[in-house]
Amino acid sequence: MTRPFRVAVVGAGPAGIYAGNILRTRAGEAGIEVQIDLFESLPSPYGLIRYGVAPDHPRIKGIVTSLHDMLADGAVRLLGNVEIGADITVDELQELYHAVVFATGAQVDRHFDLPGLEKHGSFGAADFVSWYDGHPDVPREWPLNARQIAVLGNGNVALDVARVLAKHPVDLLTTDIPENVYAGLAASPVTDVHVFGRRGPHDIKFTPIELRELGEVPGVDIVLYDEDFENGSTAVGGADKGAGGRAGAGEAAANGARRAVGNQAKVMARILQSWRERESTDAPRRLHLHFWHRPVEILGDGDGDGEGAGRVTAIRFERTEPDGAGGIRGTGEFVDYGVQAVYRAIGYRGTPVRDVPFDEAAGVIPNDGGRVLDENGAAVPRLYATGWIKRGPVGLIGHTKGDAAETVEKLLEDHASLSAAERPDEDAVIAFLRSRGVRFTTWDGWLALDEHERALGEEFPGMQRERIKVVSRDEQVAISNREVVAR
Ligand code: NAP
Repeated sequence: MTRPFRVAVVGAGPAGIYAGNILRTRAGEAGIEVQIDLFESLPSPYGLIRYGVAPDHPRIKGIVTSLHDMLADGAVRLLGNVEIGADITVDELQELYHAVVFATGAQVDRHFDLPGLEKHGSFGAADFVSWYDGHPDVPREWPLNARQIAVLGNGNVALDVARVLAKHPVDLLTTDIPENVYAGLAASPVTDVHVFGRRGPHDIKFTPIELRELGEVPGVDIVLYDEDFENGSTAVGGADKGAGGRAGAGEAAANGARRAVGNQAKVMARILQSWRERESTDAPRRLHLHFWHRPVEILGDGDGDGEGAGRVTAIRFERTEPDGAGGIRGTGEFVDYGVQAVYRAIGYRGTPVRDVPFDEAAGVIPNDGGRVLDENGAAVPRLYATGWIKRGPVGLIGHTKGDAAETVEKLLEDHASLSAAERPDEDAVIAFLRSRGVRFTTWDGWLALDEHERALGEEFPGMQRERIKVVSRDEQVAISNREVVAR
């Protein structure tokens, strides 16, 4: 009798769910009996969709429906609230499974070497996104006391952050935002949100749908500046040398490859142009888009670290211009903007899993097509990677499917050698987690939490609130495990 091929997937975001689902299908086609467990450090599934996509993006959140269908029949078994590397080590995991696929994503802000970054009022986008999406592991309170705010970066995360900051909170009341987030945003005195790109308007990393919706936010005027459109941006789709030598060669190449090209770029140029021609409506809030601004320093009223760091009072930029070779260079002209908060949205990065190789510079698990590599470039038996932790935090959710297909292909190529070893049956991991006192959650538990959150949404009749998220980890676990009466 052949024994089942037992695979652990770590991370129940889109990358992990796609990997589990594709593995199940491909293994079935190859006549391989497979048992897949999907581990998640949070009590609930869906990773970035639940905790990374902005609450006012129901279209993207809708992907949950297809991810739900992939887990609903239990062929991919969910084990939530289990921290790999803490509740169970990677070695222990390998004793229970023939192979382990890491799909842990990229959850923290990329390092940014900007003087003044430690000042009070300087934030990373990843933390703010976690807050407004009700992530259980971040503080419930967010200091929203700035009237003028700078957002650094010209990617979709910068758009999300700027939109959520500028939006009148009543317009978020139809979403799943938790009560504390609504209360925090409702107290914000913000009038002006300034988004800064270090390159030109043709070098934006936004995508057209996301850019267009920025212009549709009620009660918010979009402001653009003629001088940012005067110096002839770098050619669309042309060579890209990075920002004035600041970006490393590899980063510049990657960024160049991701710049909007062709129709997308034309659509976005038209959107920007239409905004330039718009009349101001004297709206109470404004969202400014600035280009050719390279951040130089966050200025504040203190000096030092910690409490002594002082508060943000302004941000200094050097104006940039095309360098004639597809990149940009500094002009030597410096300009300060008075702001009381700075949000940097300059990209995410992955974090290491204990005992798994990690490329610190790139923030990914080093791999060859999904096979994890050690420091000598040799494949580490039984370990695989997929999604953002495999290729970096670039691309839309759907792109993760291609990654998963490639990783699964490698995994199945290795199946014969991997499955030669004995592994205990699927009850062993449950016994192990119980023996460690891990309060893990399951798919059934998620259904209970899902129902609970939807019922909370129904308490706001007429508002079409699909759900209201439960934030606290303990509360999520308790509801999932039916330790409390759900309502
Ligand atoms: P991103 O698209 O890589 O954008 C990062 C931005 O930061 C770029 O404009 C980059 O400028 C800028 N930047 C990097 N280093 C900088 C520095 N030292 N100084 C100033 N600016 C700097 O990253 P992201 O916005 O974090 O998004 C990650 C991925 O998720 C993207 O693929 C994005 O499309 C996707 N996403 C999608 C949505 C959606 O609603 N569809 C929402 C959020 C995220 P350069 O171009 O000059 O390098």
